Amino acid sequence: MKYQRSSQLFKAASEVIPGGVNSPVRAFKSVGGTPVFVDKAKGAYLYDADGNRLIDYINSWGPMILGHAFPPVIDAVVEKAKLGTSFGMPTEIETQIAELAVSMVPNVDQIRFVNSGTEACMSAVRLARGFSGKEKIIKFAGCYHGHSDSFLIQAGSGAVTFGSPNSPGVTKGTAKDTLLATYNDLESVTRIFEANPSDIACVIVEPVAGNMGCIPPHPGFLKGLRDLCDANQSILVFDEVMTGFRLAKGGVQELYGIEADIVCFGKVIGGGLPVGAFAARHEIMAYLAPIGPVYQAGTLSGNPLAMAAGYTMLKALNTDIEVFDRLSKKTAYLHKGISKALSDYQISHTINRVGSMISVHFSKRPVVDFETAAEANNERFKSFFHGLLNEGIYIAPSAFESWFITDALTYQDLDETIAAVAKVAKTL
Ligand SMILES: *Cc1c(COP(=O)(O)O)cnc(C)c1O
Repeated sequence: MKYQRSSQLFKAASEVIPGGVNSPVRAFKSVGGTPVFVDKAKGAYLYDADGNRLIDYINSWGPMILGHAFPPVIDAVVEKAKLGTSFGMPTEIETQIAELAVSMVPNVDQIRFVNSGTEACMSAVRLARGFSGKEKIIKFAGCYHGHSDSFLIQAGSGAVTFGSPNSPGVTKGTAKDTLLATYNDLESVTRIFEANPSDIACVIVEPVAGNMGCIPPHPGFLKGLRDLCDANQSILVFDEVMTGFRLAKGGVQELYGIEADIVCFGKVIGGGLPVGAFAARHEIMAYLAPIGPVYQAGTLSGNPLAMAAGYTMLKALNTDIEVFDRLSKKTAYLHKGISKALSDYQISHTINRVGSMISVHFSKRPVVDFETAAEANNERFKSFFHGLLNEGIYIAPSAFESWFITDALTYQDLDETIAAVAKVAKTL
């Protein structure tokens, strides 16, 4: 494949944008080479600036669960845009998407919309602190909750890929209020609660981790967090920015039957436009401005184009009762095919999968937390990534990312991908 045009565009971008990108993991630093510039996308395919067609397994890092340029979403955005793009005043579409989201997600009465997953998590933690009157939070090594200061402590994917888990610019004062636990290790959480009795405002967790590759919670892990939070009057925050409206209509709360106190959303909920949200029961949401004391705001929050895209996306997922099952089956098929192709060439690997999230680790041990994810063979991942790219298959340019399966992928696309994996496996 040729990448002349992408290389030129990257060079021009790098003159005026730091590293040539507006979000670090796009820059290919962990796999080497030049990022692919996109021209357009449709369904399961990306078309890059050089005219190459790529089968896409990133899907804008999750939002495009029904494929790129999903016609009902495009139509809804175009129609709304004709009426004006932003007012800074309430619009009916905000209530419509809020009603729909609250009806799909268990255990929440109200939802507040923001512009990104980062904002959702940042606001959720402020709300948890305001509601509980406590200051410290527990997060898990390798979990990513966006780039706000409190979370840039062993933050998974982007931050890890660049080898700067603790970013300069985060003050010691902020960092000391974020206490680190180990994913899938309840003991590590218990120890922190014991050492900080009555100081923990909340535990924030990716209930299925997706930012150190895909890592499912061990049976009992989420229930254990629920019980620890109850015993210590702490808030349990599920960061479902990646898993919400992807693993089930009601996200992980529904999938594993565990109730969180505050749930964060992003990615799918915006249908490909910049949207985040956080939701909870009345008693917690009543702490939020303008009715409560915890301040939170946004000039473009609830933007009509973004709400129209998100509403149309959620409606499509809510009406198609088989979509999550179909996605799971496609992902399981891919899992089986990739695993066989790698095994045929004696490549040690671990594949983790939950619903339509899947990741391939070149590791001999089970990948259950940040430490085991970080042990995998990154050199081999680089060759795997570039081998697949050369075959027209686009996976995330980092071993710490999940792949996102979309309903637009056909079994023929999956077979093409598996054949490419077999071809690349031979060279690993
Ligand atoms: C992507 C992601 C975020 C951050 O969302 P942005 O929209 O990129 O700010 C937060 N939490 C999780 C689990 C994510 O996957």
